[in-house]
Amino acid sequence: MAYKDEQLHEEKVFKDPVHRYVHVKDRVIWDLIAAPEFQRLRRIKQLGTSNYTFHGAEHSRFNHSLGVYEIVRRIIYNFQDRPHWNKNERLLALCAALLHDLGHGPFSHSFEKAFKLDHEQFTQAIIMGETQVHKILERVEKGFAQKVADVIAKTYEDKLVVSLISSQIDADRMDYLQRDAYFTGVSYGHFDMERILRVMRPTEDQVVIKSTGMHAVEDYIMSRYQMYWQVYFHPVTRSAEVILSRILDRAKYLYETGDFAFKLEPTHFISFFEGKVKLEEYLKLDEMVVHYYFHLWQEEDDAILRDLCERFMNRRLFKYIEFNPNSQMNEWMELHALFEQAGIDPKYYLVVDSSSDLPYDFYRPGEEEERLPIHLLMPDKSLKELSRHSDIVEAISGKKRTDHKLYFPTDKLDEIVDEPVKERIYEILYGQGEIEDVD
Ligand code: CA
Repeated sequence: MAYKDEQLHEEKVFKDPVHRYVHVKDRVIWDLIAAPEFQRLRRIKQLGTSNYTFHGAEHSRFNHSLGVYEIVRRIIYNFQDRPHWNKNERLLALCAALLHDLGHGPFSHSFEKAFKLDHEQFTQAIIMGETQVHKILERVEKGFAQKVADVIAKTYEDKLVVSLISSQIDADRMDYLQRDAYFTGVSYGHFDMERILRVMRPTEDQVVIKSTGMHAVEDYIMSRYQMYWQVYFHPVTRSAEVILSRILDRAKYLYETGDFAFKLEPTHFISFFEGKVKLEEYLKLDEMVVHYYFHLWQEEDDAILRDLCERFMNRRLFKYIEFNPNSQMNEWMELHALFEQAGIDPKYYLVVDSSSDLPYDFYRPGEEEERLPIHLLMPDKSLKELSRHSDIVEAISGKKRTDHKLYFPTDKLDEIVDEPVKERIYEILYGQGEIEDVD
């Protein structure tokens, strides 16, 4: 029997708190899960620093990837006898679902920013490089790895397959919303996925939703909206992220000065500091390794690196106020100068962080991020864009919300000996409103 058709002697199941079970019957999927590049995802948390806010949020990209695979498996099961679904794409869709996040690095977002990396490029590199994953995919058929890479990069010709994993209602989002809600313990993020799966229909170029399922989709969009502001952009999570990114900046700066002697040679970071990360080095740096370094850097000779790592390891986070540097340029400049005067480096201790989200969007060709809208399949077989039919979705469509916050450590400000400087700093900060605690 050809490898691609090979089935396990008996179905394997993974117990999963969100989907109850993840079912695996294909030998290819089983082998991919066992590959070291996929096992590595156990050591990358799905939500980065969110566990500083919601202590349950320790789940990994491994859990999430299995979940996305399971949802796609169920969608395809429902599609199997419907028109437009090409049965030959089954294994391709399953592999792409399983591997879609393969290139995520430790604390994805902060790392990508600090070292100008792109996890999508690494996903492509792992699938196409000299890896176990690549070998397994090529055993299916020659050129199969490239097809999987194309589905994930959204360039694959069969757009229906692409839309299962990347669209405004895809298996990726449906898994992470429920999974992140489950592990954080919040009450947002839940919606009736079973119902959505039952009303999904394949068309030539995308998945659409039978109009009778519209309310379940509204619920899904609202949960996404809530999750972004209540969980993903939580100010405390962002405070930890601000510190994390400043640690990376500081370590890189010290390395670049050339005359700082680290007590522990930062071997795993060097290619990141130098901006020439090879795949092999990328795969070696997971969150376990990063934590190991941060732990030891608490004893380095540099006071800033030591302090930031100590804060990160022990959750001594920065406090914050609402602050938009674009409209408050004068206050921003004055704070900067005062921090410098007080000997507190504003580069590391006075940080603006901005978050923004677009909960749902209709199609705007040519825009920065073209988003394929969700379409409803009406009783007369015509397609109607969701926000034209749903008042709730229309109310939040295309509305981008941005939120700016200014982070700083009050414990350091309290230690300033120059009283007039300290007073003026607090005067400006309090002038913006309440200083928010992060405990
Ligand atoms: Ca994902």
